[in-house]
Amino acid sequence: MKELTLPTRILADMALLRRLPDGHAKKQLVKDDLARRQAGYSGERNLRYYLGLLPKNKYRIFFDIYLSIHQHHFQIDTLLIASKFTLVIEVKNFKGTLFFEPSFNQCIRLINNRKEGYPNPILQSDRHRELLSEWLNERHLFFPPLESLVVIAFPSTILEISPENQPIIDKVFYAEQIISINEFEKKYRNRKPLDNNQLNLLETTLLAGHIEFDDDVLTKFSISPGELVTGVQCPLCHSFSMERIFGSWHCKQCDSNLKNAHEQSIMDYFLLFGPTITNSQCRKFLNLSDRYLVSRLLKNINVPSSGIGRGKIKKYINPSFFNQIHDQ
Ligand SMILES: [Zn+2]
Repeated sequence: MKELTLPTRILADMALLRRLPDGHAKKQLVKDDLARRQAGYSGERNLRYYLGLLPKNKYRIFFDIYLSIHQHHFQIDTLLIASKFTLVIEVKNFKGTLFFEPSFNQCIRLINNRKEGYPNPILQSDRHRELLSEWLNERHLFFPPLESLVVIAFPSTILEISPENQPIIDKVFYAEQIISINEFEKKYRNRKPLDNNQLNLLETTLLAGHIEFDDDVLTKFSISPGELVTGVQCPLCHSFSMERIFGSWHCKQCDSNLKNAHEQSIMDYFLLFGPTITNSQCRKFLNLSDRYLVSRLLKNINVPSSGIGRGKIKKYINPSFFNQIHDQ
């Protein structure tokens, strides 16, 4: 119902890394953030693969759904709705060995003989379950009983849970064990299922409540626009020494000629500064002085413009953002 897509934040981190000068103090921080998010995304993709093997049309599945309740945002990695139960799934991709410590409700990861403490993912998914329940109740919706689970994305993560901790064992699965969903089918077999109308209403309300998260990475990392490298970047040697010559881009560094080198740079702008760009913002970011050239470049990448008219500055809208608002 809501497909798994590459999170914009990953693209924004990548754009920021392209634009931060070498040796910038925050570069490593952004790299670490990107690596963590990419690991998370690959974990979700792996679970997505196993969910794809479940019987078709039996479950309504939503990936990365962001909801807000009382100014509080929460994200559910995977939400699976069946007619008799709902699963709130937190997906974790950890390297090494994972211990669940029930007395302090802690999760400890052992890697290269080093111990690191993490927020307990079971508590995280429990909290999301409670928030979702509150969110649905506020909208007076019927919904099947909610269960929260933690899915460990890859079997390379070793889980150590002592046998007396049955409640933890019941809540933590490997992605490939998602077939254990049958346990919930059994548990709720005597429950009256929701009918299709109720399920459809649940689905449309969730999709309408989903917030497209516009991550402002510059604010997140406290980086000001002035710290970024401007210009058109060469996609081959990554230098910012491209010049516009005879309708094409020439790289002074590696001598290559490319027709569309500006497109990545304009997308970088959207990822870093938001969904619209004006001619003057584009000139500044691409280090160009010719407003007619910039106007042509923006038109050629099919960026629809808005705000035409007297006294209004023409704004170009990020094409991917444009698709989103029109898909809804
Ligand atoms: Zn180059």
